Amino acid sequence: MIIAKFVLSIFQQNSRIVACEKTGRAIAIDPGADSSEMVELIRDKGWELQAVALTHGHLDHVGGTKFLEAAFPEAEVILHKDDEDLYYELPQQPLMMGLPQVQLSALGLDYEQPPMLTRNWEHGERYEVGELVFDVYHCPGHTRGHIVLAEKNEKMVFVGDCLFAGSIGRTDLPGGDYDQLMNSINENIISLGDDFIVYSGHGPETTVGDERQNNPFLNGTYALGRGRYV
Ligand SMILES: [Zn+2]
Ligand SMILES: [Zn+2]
Repeated sequence: MIIAKFVLSIFQQNSRIVACEKTGRAIAIDPGADSSEMVELIRDKGWELQAVALTHGHLDHVGGTKFLEAAFPEAEVILHKDDEDLYYELPQQPLMMGLPQVQLSALGLDYEQPPMLTRNWEHGERYEVGELVFDVYHCPGHTRGHIVLAEKNEKMVFVGDCLFAGSIGRTDLPGGDYDQLMNSINENIISLGDDFIVYSGHGPETTVGDERQNNPFLNGTYALGRGRYV
């Protein structure tokens, strides 16, 4: 597996191209903003981009979909159905977050309508990219339709904004739910095993084991503060 990371937008979002070394088939996970470098890499390597694979519908993860789709129109665009509304509201998302219209252009957040989705992720689906096989898990809590992609042979999991090194996704935006997020993380990410490498939507890579032991939201430290274990 080849992973190329591009840190994009004012949100410093980790956009990634993941390619199967043997077959040259590739997916773009969460293209957060327009990136010529991303398009050039795919062309230079001669990879076949088969899909724009979206973990969830937030602007910093889907903002570059239109740009990439224009360069590779044969690529599918895939998102869970529960984030469809969010996705199609992309031009309005910055305003929903409280950003003033007059600043959107300067911030690079003046989005056009994104392209139509090709289809929806299904929980439990196995998604093949050449010889790579991704298990798709619905992980609501950060948004209603968040999914993660786990490649079990390579022991890698792409978690979007569910889990970060030392933190978890925010749950104060529309569709967010703290208890639901904790369930999603425990059932679908922690359960994969300590040796899985975690690729988050923001910040550095980590491992399931590191987070299970040291992440205050997962090792009980934060929950103690909320009185959940007393
Ligand atoms: Zn998000
Ligand atoms: Zn994000």
